[in-house]
Amino acid sequence: MSHRGDPARFDPSRVRNFGVVAHIDAGKTTLCERMLVRTGVEARLGEVEEGTAVLDWLPAERERGISITAAATSLPWREHQLHLIDTPGHVDFTIEVERSLRVLDGAIVVLDVLAGVQAQSEAVWGQLRRHGCAAVAFLNKLDRPGADFLGALRGIEQRLRVRCAPVAYPYIREGKLCAVADILRQRMLAPGYPPSARHWLALPQEIASEVGVLRAELADALAEEDEHVFQCLARDETPSAELLASALRRRTLDGTLLPVACGSALHQIGIEAALDLVVDYLPSPADRPAPCAGLRADPAALVQLEPRADEPLVLFAFKLQRIGRRDVIFVRVVRGQLRRGSELLVARSAAPMLVAKLYNPHADHLEPIESALPGDIVAIEAAGEFDGVASGDTLCDRAQVCALEPLEVPKPVIALAVEPVHAADREALRAGLARLVREDPSLALREDEASGQWLLAGMGELHLEIALERLSDETGLQLGRTPPRVAYSEVPIRPARGAARIERSFGADLLVGAIEIEVLPAPELDSIELRFDPAAAPERGWQPALQAGLFALAQTGPRGGYPLARARVVVRDARRPGDQGSEAGALQALGSAWREVMAQLEVELHEPLMAFEVLTPSEYAGGVMGDLQSRGAQMSEVQSEGRSTRMRGSVPLCGMFGYASAVRSLSQGRASFSMRPQGTRAVPQQEWAARGLTLA
Ligand code: GDP
Ligand code: MG
Repeated sequence: MSHRGDPARFDPSRVRNFGVVAHIDAGKTTLCERMLVRTGVEARLGEVEEGTAVLDWLPAERERGISITAAATSLPWREHQLHLIDTPGHVDFTIEVERSLRVLDGAIVVLDVLAGVQAQSEAVWGQLRRHGCAAVAFLNKLDRPGADFLGALRGIEQRLRVRCAPVAYPYIREGKLCAVADILRQRMLAPGYPPSARHWLALPQEIASEVGVLRAELADALAEEDEHVFQCLARDETPSAELLASALRRRTLDGTLLPVACGSALHQIGIEAALDLVVDYLPSPADRPAPCAGLRADPAALVQLEPRADEPLVLFAFKLQRIGRRDVIFVRVVRGQLRRGSELLVARSAAPMLVAKLYNPHADHLEPIESALPGDIVAIEAAGEFDGVASGDTLCDRAQVCALEPLEVPKPVIALAVEPVHAADREALRAGLARLVREDPSLALREDEASGQWLLAGMGELHLEIALERLSDETGLQLGRTPPRVAYSEVPIRPARGAARIERSFGADLLVGAIEIEVLPAPELDSIELRFDPAAAPERGWQPALQAGLFALAQTGPRGGYPLARARVVVRDARRPGDQGSEAGALQALGSAWREVMAQLEVELHEPLMAFEVLTPSEYAGGVMGDLQSRGAQMSEVQSEGRSTRMRGSVPLCGMFGYASAVRSLSQGRASFSMRPQGTRAVPQQEWAARGLTLA
């Protein structure tokens, strides 16, 4: 059923690109594995618990039983081609969700019926909305004792502030989940039949009236916005399932209703309902043309990129990964037809790139294909040893250079120092680290020339641990490293200026440059932004070098040598009329001007603040709360939910190292905990010494 490579059979309305997103342990990977088997793509069930899940293919994932990297695959369902990306739920790998959402049109949010909407699901919901991704939900784990479908729906409505439209209903008999009913069609899939023989049953007596009520409520909700449904109800007729489904599809695409199905991924109940959700309610590429950030030649012009095969190519490179011995670039074809042998341009650098190979990804297995069309998510390999592509790059036809929005990259909160055990390995380590950072833009790297170490910063302990583990596995290098610590930053509180002129003979050459810089506090920014003063901008050709130079300088702040943040740097060319000048001269002047600024810049020292959520059986709530407060936590919400208590609030990250095991022992292993970055706060002066902060 794949149309890949065949524009004649290309029908974007039969394509769905969707992600499976949610909090860790909701059952995303398990659901995906079931969908693969149900659609016949895989013959055998993979299990997260046994380390055999097809989509958790990295050794680090199989050992730990969690997803780390987003895995892509395709499956056929009801004459549609579904391209799926299973994403990690752990907050350390947020970038995987963020970049996946850039290439997906919709998502299934998987929710654990007992845990409800957990912190990371709420965060992902925000990401979905920000990217304009349509959403449907799958309430999972209905096999667990105490599962309350309607109660969970109310929880979703409250937490996500969206109206739910249940389309499936669980049939639970004597505490056991037996099957899932189809609310629109008022029937139930008989359990136990092989996938090829769908066998429908009438609704059992116990749930028939409840399902009828839910169907009527759904029709009422749809009638509010849909003329046809409204007319139907006004005539006292029962709207058909098709009419309701098409009205619900529109409401899903505009984000005003959330269709919800349910089941048990583990026990393979409701998998068809989940697949139907994707086909019936999530958008196709044709429903959602990607807006383009603008043509390079004419920066003011925004163009809408229609997903058409007969226009110049535009690809979004959302992910780079080494799979086996291949370095592949995952792309979404936004427009045009991509072929083996296509010649492309990296929009950022104008570097040319030749597509040597093209693949259909199925987790770590790459199936060679000849071409791909708009809406397709495929993997490509560049000819030669080309390493000029970074995550978030736009690749396009040289006939029409155009750049899509870059990736939004979260700011690292934790850092450690690495060095090779054997000095001879320095170059190999340098290359390995550079590749890590190109693959994962939420890692940041800086070489500390004084100590000969590299500082690697990332999103959490697990993030850095896994990055270094992959590095040593893939390169065989032995590494020395420090324990991770909080990634502090230096935030200017008053503007400062500096200027330098240099005029030096350099052999026969005269090195001339004059630069003026100003550093301004910019609380609205996360990191630093560089601007060239439009009235006196340095020559265009020098700007990339100046930019790179400044970003390198700004990695070392004036107080503790931590990177500058929340600042804007404005650069002016300060040459007098008639002055000569060169890039090298400008760079030298920049270095001197920067030293002058640093000598006067007043900064605050900032540390990462985290939003946390703990869900614990209520008998442990007191102990958990006391412990959190001793770590400097501020509670914003303490709510009891049945026999559990949910606590939310914020806490400085520095108090939270090793918290996962602390909360385990405080609750006999029964509490769940998560946290995510929530900006920074200034570290009070009296705490500096206790933190061992060495300051200028
Ligand atoms: P992910 O982190 O969202 O990808 O979750 P996984 O698919 O890795 O599942 C997390 C855990 O929940 C595993 O131990 C699964 O076996 C278990 N699990 C998944 N689905 C269900 C379900 O429907 N019922 C029950 N009882 N457990 C499930
Ligand atoms: Mg997973």
